[in-house]
Amino acid sequence: MSNSIAPIRGMNDVLPEQAHYWQFLESTARGIFDAYGYREIRVPLLERTELFKRSIGEVTDIVEKEMYAFEDRNGDNIALRPEATAGIVRAALTHGLVHNRQEKLFCIGPMFRREKPQKGRYRQFHQIDVEALGFAGPDVDAELIFMSARLLEALGVDDLKLEINSLGSAESRVRYRQRLVEYFGGHRDQLDGDSLRRLDRNPLRILDSKNPALAEVIAAAPRLQDDLDDESRIHFATLKQYLTDRGIAFVENPRLVRGLDYYSRTVFEWLTDKLGAQSAVCSGGRYDGLIPQLGGRPTPAIGWALGVERLVELISLSAMPPQAPTPAAYVIMLDDPARRMGLDWIEKLRDRLPALRVLADCQGGSLKSQLKRADKSGAAFAVLIGADEAEAARVTLKNLGSGEQNQVDFEGLANQLGSA
Ligand code: ATP
Ligand code: MG
Repeated sequence: MSNSIAPIRGMNDVLPEQAHYWQFLESTARGIFDAYGYREIRVPLLERTELFKRSIGEVTDIVEKEMYAFEDRNGDNIALRPEATAGIVRAALTHGLVHNRQEKLFCIGPMFRREKPQKGRYRQFHQIDVEALGFAGPDVDAELIFMSARLLEALGVDDLKLEINSLGSAESRVRYRQRLVEYFGGHRDQLDGDSLRRLDRNPLRILDSKNPALAEVIAAAPRLQDDLDDESRIHFATLKQYLTDRGIAFVENPRLVRGLDYYSRTVFEWLTDKLGAQSAVCSGGRYDGLIPQLGGRPTPAIGWALGVERLVELISLSAMPPQAPTPAAYVIMLDDPARRMGLDWIEKLRDRLPALRVLADCQGGSLKSQLKRADKSGAAFAVLIGADEAEAARVTLKNLGSGEQNQVDFEGLANQLGSA
């Protein structure tokens, strides 16, 4: 083993034992997105570094210290995507998807951030991302939250808390920013290095700090609500009405600002207390300013992103986690003529019943050792083929639960497995 190559820290293999949770999550999400009319978009893992700097913001954790950015061999500055929104908006502009039209999109895939790896926080992680481009809301804001709530419910993940806030318009944030600079400026001695740096360039980010030492000074900071412009106030009130109409419980958190620069008005987060410090499971918000910032015409937009690893963990902890699929039949072939017939019959079974899960024992050995593997596979039936069976063109079908067995021809086998 001394010659083996270690994996990269914070980048995980998803083994088959876990993969069915991922498949369950992805297929449930795809079904719901399809029903709501959200269509899939796939964008590159690599983009120009400039795209992320301009959209996420220079003074953010992601751009300052988490991005995998490097020079390509020809000197281009490129980066592995730390999130999906920037690339999706870039693609929308490249292909004119928001030119006099709207788009409801989703994207599933890996993201890369060079954070300190720990449970629920990895360097390659995965997101399910939803974006509604060209919609001013608040109806679409509500739809996006309904869709996230429906997904979480369908996954059997409950006990999540929804927090919402409004960041107001760009103008109201300018006023608020000034008040924050004054407030935190008066508490410099309580700030850490990151926050001091942010004080002038991006004081809102201080509210997003994860440093527990700052909790108190942040809790006492001025609230944006007092500077909210009228339109944002109405937008927020209407969204809350829609949520209340549907019986979706939420908590207003005036400190919820989200880690990226581009948000305005509605922001929200689904939180759990089951994953220790990593409490955010799904985070979203409106970003009306982003598209013009990236060179498009003024276009309102909103989206959310869900952390797949964290949700998979919650699914595995849930009351009724989905079971890994087990085979219907495990085919045991005891000699060469049996193998010749068995392999042929298995393919004929697949022709007849394409969805049937049939495992062929391709290891050989004694009846006992093959039966052991059949049991271990979790199969409902073993199909036994020995010399006698091959001669008679019949097989022994054994119910591995009850131990009952009978001899059947191909039609009998297909009928029994098809109706099991
Ligand atoms: P956090 O506050 O936990 O750092 P974030 O605000 O940076 O999250 P977003 O950029 O909003 O997260 O990403 C959306 C979701 O992606 C998060 O709610 C979380 O579930 C997940 N996520 C973010 N970073 C990671 C990571 N490094 N590893 C695993 N999941 C992550
Ligand atoms: Mg983060």
